[in-house]
Formats: sequence, C-alpha cells, structure tokens
Amino acid sequence: MPLKIALLPGDGIGPEVTAEAVRILKNVAEHAGKSLTFSTHNIGGVAIDSDGQGLPESTLEACLGANAVLLGAVGNPKFDGRVPSQRPEAALLALRQALGGYANLRPAICYAPLAKRTAFQPDKVKGADLLIIRELLGGLYFGEPRGFEASGDTAFNTLIYSRHEVERVARVAFARARERKGRVASIDKANVLECSQLWRRVVSEVAKEYPDVALEHVFVDTAAMRLATAPTSFDVMLCDNLFGDILSDQAASVAGSLGLLPSATLGGKVDLYEPVHGSAPDIAGQGLANPIGAIASAAMLLRFTAKMEKEAAEIEHAIEDALAAGARTRDLANPGERVLSTQEMGQAIEESLADVRDRRHSYHGV
Ligand code: NAD
Repeated sequence: MPLKIALLPGDGIGPEVTAEAVRILKNVAEHAGKSLTFSTHNIGGVAIDSDGQGLPESTLEACLGANAVLLGAVGNPKFDGRVPSQRPEAALLALRQALGGYANLRPAICYAPLAKRTAFQPDKVKGADLLIIRELLGGLYFGEPRGFEASGDTAFNTLIYSRHEVERVARVAFARARERKGRVASIDKANVLECSQLWRRVVSEVAKEYPDVALEHVFVDTAAMRLATAPTSFDVMLCDNLFGDILSDQAASVAGSLGLLPSATLGGKVDLYEPVHGSAPDIAGQGLANPIGAIASAAMLLRFTAKMEKEAAEIEHAIEDALAAGARTRDLANPGERVLSTQEMGQAIEESLADVRDRRHSYHGV
C-alpha cells in the first residue's frame, strides 16, 4: 500500500524547505522499495490569494484522505492588518483542529558541530537533547469566549483545560520519556493559574501509571531560565499550548537556529509534520532558508506514520554528518564559512544519506 502524503508548502520559505524534505523522502522511498505518493495543495496566504480562503475545502479533504500531512509554513506580512481569524495563520489552526492531533512533539538537539554556534558556552550545551511536547488543541489558543469588546479597546481570551485533554497529552509525554532518558518536566504556572493547578494534579495522577519515569513540576518562568542556563538538565518537557509555543522557540537557541527544529503532531485522524519555524518573509525566495527542520520533520513522518525507524534514524545521522562535514546554510555559518543554498543543503544531506547507508551495509558485512 502506498503511503499518501498531502504536501502543503504554504507561504514564504515553506515551498523551498518542503522541496528538500520531498527530495529526501523520495530518495528513501526508492532505496527502501516503499511507495510514497505526494499531492500538493494550497494553504495560508497563497490559498487566500488563489481560493479566497486560507484553508480551502479541497485542501482539507486531501489532508483527511492522506496518511500524513507535510507542511511548510504559513504567514505573509501583507495580511498583517487583518483580524486573527482572517489571517493565513488561522488556516493552520483550523487544519490542526480538523486533523485532531493533540500532541505536538518538538525535539531540540544540540548537534555537536554546532555547539559553538549557539549562544551557550559549548560545554553547557553539548549533549542537550530535549523533546518539548506541546498540547496543541486546547488552552488559550482555542478557548471561548474570545474577541474584542465593542469599543475595540478591550480584548479577551480564555484559558481553559479539561482533565481528558491533560491526561492524553501527559500519556504521550511519559511514553516518549520511556524511550529516552526517562524524565518528564511538566511545565505550568500553578502558583497563579487555576488551569495550571488542574494540569499539575492530572499530570501527577498519570505519572503513577509510569513508575519508571521521573516527574518534576517546573514553573514556566523557572523553566525558561533553566533552558537558558542548563539545557542539558531537561529530557521531555510537557507543556500546555501557550507555554510550549514559547519554550520551543527558546529551545531553538540550544540547536543554534530556528531553521533546525522539526515537529510532529500526533494523536488525531491524520498526523501532521512541519518545521517549527514560520514563513520567514525576510529571507523567502532567496535560497537562504535552512531546510533541516523540514527534512527532520520528514524523518519524524517516517518514524511515526510509516513505522520506518531505520530510515528515520538514517536521515538524522545524515543531517549530523553533513553538519560535521561543514555544510552550513547562512543561519548556521560563521563569518568566512562557505554558505550553502537551501537546495545545496538538501543535496549535501542526500549525499550523506548515501554514506550512512554504505557504512551500515559495510558494518553488517564484517
Ligand atoms: P519565522 O520563524 O518565520 O522567522 C523568525 C526568524 O528566523 C527570521 O529572522 C527568519 O529569517 C529566521 N528563520 C526562520 N526559519 C528559518 C530557516 N528555515 N532558515 C533560516 N532562517 C530561518 O517567525 P516570524 O518572523 O515571527 O514570522 C513570520 C511569519 O510566519 C508570520 O506571518 C508568522 O505568523 C508566521 N509563522 C508561521 C508559523 C507556521 O507556519 N507554523 C510559525 C511561526 C510563525
């Protein structure tokens, strides 16, 4: 059975980075003898321009009929004057809601060759390998009521969580921690917010199902500070929608660039994979975007949807090897270093992938 992937390149650098992710997926499919089919659809600003709405019916239908969705990014400054519900970003929120994935996995790894690139002293960040699990369907981003009062000078949003929303995402966090270093830090603001008090209570209850996993509760402000001073002290960070959004961008500092971070959204009808970064209008169309976040998202697609763990791990090794060999897009380059275009970085990773496979075969041969 072919694996059907709905491809939503979106706005800005989205099409550039997803093209490189598709390059790698096609390469993997060819080598593994696996059939992957791609169908491309509009979302975000390009869809507002072409179809008059950010999430056209045809796009949604294609996504619901696929095994996985691979998305680039949405957002275009020309829509900045619109109210949130009319902007391209609303299409992504609507898509996430329709697909129903509630657990957003955002790994942030400090690749050894980039440790000096980060804002940290290399010895403080080397070995940092954290997984932020962000609750994606609840909390402040979806709570009702929301809006402006008639005067336009007062606005309000609602922070709301129910037990089942916390339970299901907490289970994902504990299950992933079991596969990793066995530690969950649950992030909240339980000293101020009732929602966080519920969050803390429910997470503590779920923790009893996973006695082999260590749980700590960390206030979000302390977590932000710890991420900035001791990122290696974290393994899995379990966050609500808002805190996870903010802390996962902060975790980019551990990696060295926002362009490196992938994500997977699981638990719904169809899994959604997308780099963490946005449409980066400042660099769009210039071949300057780092495609690694998108390529690593494709690796997560192979791991979680296609159950191709070996191939997923090979892509991740290929990324690390390409970086170790000095492949740098502009966001990663030090002054004087050769800068690769988006496409050249995709090619460099594709070449590393061939080497990773060769090495694997020769290990097996001896
Ligand atoms: P952004 O992530 O687009 O860019 C932030 C900074 O990081 C910019 O300087 C950009 O050049 C750089 N950057 C981002 N991705 C990069 C990559 N792959 N390679 C190299 N550099 C990269 O965030 P922003 O500027 O706050 O937002 C721009 C637009 O994207 C807005 O419309 C915003 O709403 C939207 N957005 C969309 C998503 C999404 O689609 N998931 C996420 C965040 C922001």
